[in-house]
Amino acid sequence: MPLKTLHYTNGETTIVWKPDVCIHSGICAKGLGEVFDPRRRPWIDMSQSDTQRIIGQVKKCPSGALSIAENDTDK
Ligand code: SF4
Repeated sequence: MPLKTLHYTNGETTIVWKPDVCIHSGICAKGLGEVFDPRRRPWIDMSQSDTQRIIGQVKKCPSGALSIAENDTDK
């Protein structure tokens, strides 16, 4: 059974994470470890940085596992 897609929001923007697509490259954790910490639950904490930095990091995800929810892409 495929793993469930998860959503994380800070009220301004929403990250979509697809665990089945993630290749565990660690690029998100290396680039913005305050927000993306695989050892923490929940592993994404949007309160740890600002929206622009979070969006910038999401765009660097090589697999497409991380994305910004469609309604928020204009921010
Ligand atoms: S950058 Fe993308 S593929 Fe790499 S660990 Fe993070 S979510 Fe997974």
